[in-house]
Order: sequence, then C-alpha cells, then structure tokens
Amino acid sequence: MSKNKRTAIEPTRMENYAEWYQQVIKAADLAETSEVRGCMVIKPWGYAIWENIQRVLDGMFRETGHRNAYFPVFIPKSYFEKEAEHVEGFAKECAVVTHSKLEDDGKGGLKAAGELTEPYIIRPTSETIIGASFARWVNSYRDLPLLINQWANIVRWEMRTRLFLRTTEFLWQEGHTVHESYEEAMEETQRMLTVYARFAEDYLAIPVIKGEKTEGEKFPGAVNTYCIEAMMQDKKALQSGTSHFLGQNFAKASNIRFQNRNGEVEYAWTTSWGVSTRLIGALIMAHSDDNGLVLPPRIAPAHVALIPIYKNEEERDQILAFTHRIQDLLKNTMFDDIKVYCELDDRDLTSSERNWYWIKKGIPLRVEIGPRDVEQNSVMIARRDLEPRDKQSVQFDALPGYVLKALADLQSNIYTKALEFRNGNMIKIDDQSEFYRYFTPQNKNQPEIHGGFARSHWCGDVSCEERIKDDLKVTVRCIPFDAVEEKGSCICCGKTSVRRVIFAKSY
Ligand SMILES: [Zn+2]
Repeated sequence: MSKNKRTAIEPTRMENYAEWYQQVIKAADLAETSEVRGCMVIKPWGYAIWENIQRVLDGMFRETGHRNAYFPVFIPKSYFEKEAEHVEGFAKECAVVTHSKLEDDGKGGLKAAGELTEPYIIRPTSETIIGASFARWVNSYRDLPLLINQWANIVRWEMRTRLFLRTTEFLWQEGHTVHESYEEAMEETQRMLTVYARFAEDYLAIPVIKGEKTEGEKFPGAVNTYCIEAMMQDKKALQSGTSHFLGQNFAKASNIRFQNRNGEVEYAWTTSWGVSTRLIGALIMAHSDDNGLVLPPRIAPAHVALIPIYKNEEERDQILAFTHRIQDLLKNTMFDDIKVYCELDDRDLTSSERNWYWIKKGIPLRVEIGPRDVEQNSVMIARRDLEPRDKQSVQFDALPGYVLKALADLQSNIYTKALEFRNGNMIKIDDQSEFYRYFTPQNKNQPEIHGGFARSHWCGDVSCEERIKDDLKVTVRCIPFDAVEEKGSCICCGKTSVRRVIFAKSY
C-alpha cells in the first residue's frame, strides 16, 4: 500500500459499496470476469473457498443420510414443459441447444448444423431431469425415502451479472428427495434448511434468519419455499440458501409413483434444496473491510502466512531454518476438525508488501519472523480482524496453542460483529411514512445506503407486496419462523395482519 492511500481497498465501503465489492475480489484474487458474457473465472484462492464449502456441506449431507449422484446437463424441452409454473419461472433465462455440429459456411467460417428434433435446455435446475430417473427408481414404499444430492454447474441467462452473486454459469449443489408422505417430505424440507442455517452460522460466521417465502417469491412449481436470509454490510439482504417443499407437483409431472403400505399406487412427495457459489459473495460482503477480504478460519483456504524478514545471506539461512521449524510445529495442529495450513511467503518483496498481500487475501493470521525473533525464540503474530499494526509476540513453544485460540477468537468475533450489525439495523416499523423514510437513501451520493431490515405487518396480499416493491425496491424477504402472532395493520393498506414479516432491499 502506498503512503498516500488511506486503506488498501479503494473506494471504501462508505464511498461506493458496489465498487468496493469488486475491488475486494480483485485484490484477493478470488475470481475474474471471463470473455464469455456473464461468466466468471474462479481463481485458485476463490476455488479453494468453494472446495471447503463443498467439503463441509457434503459431510453434513452424508450425516443426514444423503448420497451424491450425477445427472445430465441437458434437459429435453418436453421434460421442462411438464410443470407449467416451473417452465414459466425459468423460460426467460434458458440457454437452449438446438444444433449438434459445425459445418463450413463457405465463407471461411463455421455455421451450426445438424438441427436437433428436440431442443435441449442447459439445466437452470434439475427437478425435471432427476424426476425422470426417480420415476424409474421408485416403485414401492420400500424404496423411500430416496435422498440424493448433486454437485453441479448451472446456467441461467442473467441480463445483469456480478461476480459470485449473479452469474450466467455458477456452481451449486442441489438436493432432491422423494418421500411417502406429506409429513416426511415437510420434515426433510425443514431439516435441510436447518443444515444450511447451521453451516452459515458455524462455518461462514454469518447470522441468518430462517423463514418462509411469500407466494410471489417462492420457487416456480414449489408449494412452499423456505430460506435463510443474511444482512450484508450495505444493509441489504442476501438469500443464502433455499429449501423447497414440492408437494406432489413434480411427482405428478415426472410420474413418480409408488405402491404404499396398503398396496395402493400413489404419487410421491418431493423436496429440493440448494446453495451456490453465491455463498462466497455473502462471505465477502458480510465480513470484509476497507483493507480487503476477511475470512472465517473454518472456511479459509489457509490459516497462517509465514513472513520471514532478513537483510543478508547469513540472516537468511538462520531465519528460514527457524521458519521451517515453525511450519513443522504447526503442521499437525488441528483447528476443530480442520488442518491448519501455512503459506510460506519468501518472495523478494518488502515485509510490508507481503503483509498487505495477505491482509487483502483475508488470511486469518500473519506471522513475522525477523533476526530478533530468532534470538528470542519467538515470533510476531497479527490477526486479520484486528488493526494491521496490532501484533503480539509469542514464544515458539506456545505457538500451536496461541494459533488455535486466535483462530477460534477470530471466528467468533466476526460472527458477533455481523450479528450485532444486523440486530442494530433491524427495527419494528408500524408507521407507513416512517417505513418509506427508512428505505430512502438519506445521502444522494450513496444511493445504496438505507435503513436496513424492517419488521413490519403485512396483510398477505400480493398487491401490497408489489406496490412496496415498485415504490421502494423493497420485498418481503421472509415470514420468519420466530414471528409471534400479534394483531397489527398492514404497512401498505392498513388491513388486519397477524404477524410481522422481514422487509428489505436485496441482492
Ligand atoms: Zn396490505
């Protein structure tokens, strides 16, 4: 960082939040925009975060009885047409494959040829193609429950894209399950929402609100959609995971039937649920600061940057030898069930340049090893969530214990910070003009900055929901599970309402 800069990331969050987000991604080298419109290239540091998300979630899915499988990326158009709401919901963002080969166009180029009799849609979600397999797999109640998960890429032809938050192609997991009763399928839908909430809070350190989507916001074709909603630092909501109770809609569309315990044939009950690379966007926006990325240790690709500092060859040998001893010492250290990873940075750069490099990448701990440290058998440690200059001297033998405590403290500190931020920016509003003021940016230079989450009454009418959306770009994020029944009047029309919902601007 040069001396005239105030922070490593410019602009700051307060100056221009959207641009700050892009700059954090660039400075941490997480991803870049590709030449292919709307698609991203996920770079090693960003992909390692995704791999950690996958590893942890995959373990949670297995623990809850699910198994992984893989289905085709192409969905025949006729499959898609079977569920009317579903096709309507995705029609406007489908990539469609219509040809099977390329031919010489006679002008020195190539043209698409071999037109298909039935076009294929590149999966925007897999209910219909997986349903076709499930129809074959399920015959009897003895085949149920069927609990399947798929890790895959998805294509939705988005008009406006932003790295990790909204891209034409993204990575995700999609769970698809089949059950013999309403109750069992509903229980599964709720269980997986709870898994997502636990993952978001315990691993990503992001507090979430669990709730149900309104009719207008639910998944196309679902009976009920449940979600976890998180607050970003610009006080907007980010839907971080969804779990859908599909009733018998998709079972009927895909003909998933089974013989029940009484010998009768009936349609099964299905669910689906998913989280995507969007979680990386959530992670960035929930914790990062004006110096760059801040990573929760439980999901960070590496935990400790080792930065040896020496002036000449003689110092170099001594200091590198000591650094390698530290590396060996920390090698077998386990942070909960996670191996502590060190990154040794011995590049020909100043210690300040190397420190800032790792600050911007969000590595939880930085360890400096200089001539005086070797003499005293100690090192200097800095924590990413504290001031960059805030360093602690730690004795060699005390290092593993210190590192573990620092990682645990960082993990819980950023969670508490995010929780306090959300709770401090979420209020009950009963007055309509106050509601409108709350969602109107007070400073014209910062159109993104507004009040936060409003817990207000809503009568349940789609027209009220739409009016608020048109006026303020604010939507009902969810009807929270913990909403208590209380009499009130709708913030839009004044009619009777029985509970408060969460209103917010969102990504
Ligand atoms: Zn109303």
